[in-house]
Amino acid sequence: MTPVVYSRWIPGFILPLFMLGLTVGSFLNVCIDRIPRNRSVVTPRSHCESCGRSLGLPDLIPVFSFLILKGRCRYCQSPLNPRMPFVELITGSLYVALLFRFGAQWRLLLYGILASVLIVVSITDLEWMVIPDPAVVLGVCPAMIFIFLGQGPNVFDALTGALTGGGFLLIMGFFSKWILKKEGMGGGDIKLMAMSGLYLGWRYTLLALVFASALGGAAALALVLKDRKNLQAEIPFGPLLSIGVLCVVFFGNSVVDFYTRHFLGMGS
Ligand SMILES: [Zn+2]
Repeated sequence: MTPVVYSRWIPGFILPLFMLGLTVGSFLNVCIDRIPRNRSVVTPRSHCESCGRSLGLPDLIPVFSFLILKGRCRYCQSPLNPRMPFVELITGSLYVALLFRFGAQWRLLLYGILASVLIVVSITDLEWMVIPDPAVVLGVCPAMIFIFLGQGPNVFDALTGALTGGGFLLIMGFFSKWILKKEGMGGGDIKLMAMSGLYLGWRYTLLALVFASALGGAAALALVLKDRKNLQAEIPFGPLLSIGVLCVVFFGNSVVDFYTRHFLGMGS
């Protein structure tokens, strides 16, 4: 995950990549709406959930349509889901952030795909409290292709990453069931971390789990402080794990550098 030095031609990529991110984000919205319902993400064409009218091109321009229509359906005036522009904007912003982090190289595409899958997984988990298998498969297939092309992590890193991510949560889930007598980790969380492990390799997967656990602890604490009776509230782990993975993609390198330099007395 070595960062590239700032290159002069990055500025020319910012706007096109942001637009691409908005467009992909609009497809991710379709995935979030349809995958948990077991519906095809390709057909039928997008339509209003309230009045069923097919939406034309002017209704489907990411973010802009939402703003111009003031967040309402053109035909029946029922409110549109504000999650739509949110997902589009976050996808575009993440793509641009990845461009600054990695420059225009293979890793931009690799982590762009990972980030997109994590967005689908997180929002689906928040809305449905479930991480559907097809969403995870959406991440596994490109990882395989990249590994095959020799542009992702090597085969050993990918496999140990998947085993570390999946295995760690599997064991956690087992302990939480055994000791706390409650379902801790869902199968979806385990598959999500196994998939992410393919991209990260085992070291960075462990680091992602550390980030996610810290976030989970903070979220649990915030929930308890907000409502003391709400101790049994279910926290969806998908978004926490996803944020942990993204933190590692962006900052993992710096954290490992810092750690080796200051605590192991190594490095330059
Ligand atoms: Zn409508």
